[in-house]
Amino acid sequence: MSGPGPIAPALLAWFRQNARALPFRQDPTPYHIWVSEIMLQQTRVAAALEHYRRFMEALPDVPALAACPDEELFKLWEGLGYYSRARNLKKAAQLVCSEYGGQLPASFEELQKLPGVGEYTAGAIASIAFGLPAPAVDGNVLRVFARLYNDGSNIADPAAKRLFTRRVMDQQPADAPGPFNEALMELGALVCLPGGAPLCGECPLADRCLAKAAGTLLELPVKTPPKARRVQPVTVLVARNARGEHLLQKRPETGLLAGLWQPFLFEEKLTLDEALARLAALGLSVSAAPPRPLKPAKHIFSHVEWRMAGWQLEAAGDAPAGCLWASPEEAAGRYALPGAFKAYRPLLTGGR
Ligand code: SF4
Repeated sequence: MSGPGPIAPALLAWFRQNARALPFRQDPTPYHIWVSEIMLQQTRVAAALEHYRRFMEALPDVPALAACPDEELFKLWEGLGYYSRARNLKKAAQLVCSEYGGQLPASFEELQKLPGVGEYTAGAIASIAFGLPAPAVDGNVLRVFARLYNDGSNIADPAAKRLFTRRVMDQQPADAPGPFNEALMELGALVCLPGGAPLCGECPLADRCLAKAAGTLLELPVKTPPKARRVQPVTVLVARNARGEHLLQKRPETGLLAGLWQPFLFEEKLTLDEALARLAALGLSVSAAPPRPLKPAKHIFSHVEWRMAGWQLEAAGDAPAGCLWASPEEAAGRYALPGAFKAYRPLLTGGR
């Protein structure tokens, strides 16, 4: 397949004019690039920026991250979702301290040995922070290349990804691997948009884009649709005691939202009588005041969709194993409540 010809000169000139002034770009140390890339996975730039600022203020370097207590780390991550990313950041920081003297290794291959650092993130750190030739091919770059080369290969297919990665490396100039990779990501984020809406009129590569010439760009990229999500009913019980504290429950140390806090819940659909019987079996008595139904809510994880409903009720008794009674201040400031419970958070934190 013939290609679009060299793209670097026009792309880099466009990037110099149009790059967004993001905080990690202003001081692109390996640590900054690493944390920002992990935060930006599955999170929009605008949503990640405030978290990034707070994170760097609290944990300015690798040793600080390595030593951060989990509870504090999850609090800094609160709202970003996919908490395994934070867990892996800390594990990797500990490894960097023990194996690499606290400095991220300047090697595409070595970086990939760190927990949570895949080929894309390693390529971004290697090229942007260390100036090494390496690919950083994410969904944005795959989309841009599928269109530039008018290539209908399925971008979810590893063989197609390898081919696109080779093309990226063929195009990457030896003296500017970082700016080239960043420029491609930026073009995908700002101009060559997903969902059949590319802004070709603003694209520095429009004169060489093969899909534009062929009139196929709305059909590209080709990607197998993701599998349908499993629907999981969840019964939430926002239980309050006479001191105005709410029952919080720590999730298991592995699996979905591992180690984070949640309102007391059962991952199944229960009637009110069933839910009250479960509470009684755990030694909690519910006051005579009738439980009030909670607003139903849903949260979409990558493979499962939670449909939540339940009751707000007054309860008394010792917190069951794995649970504690938390004041609204503690629920807001101390325990990380994942975004999945956004609908019920104000009830637990008193609106904080
Ligand atoms: S011309 Fe349009 S489709 Fe082609 S790379 Fe540019 S924005 Fe994407």
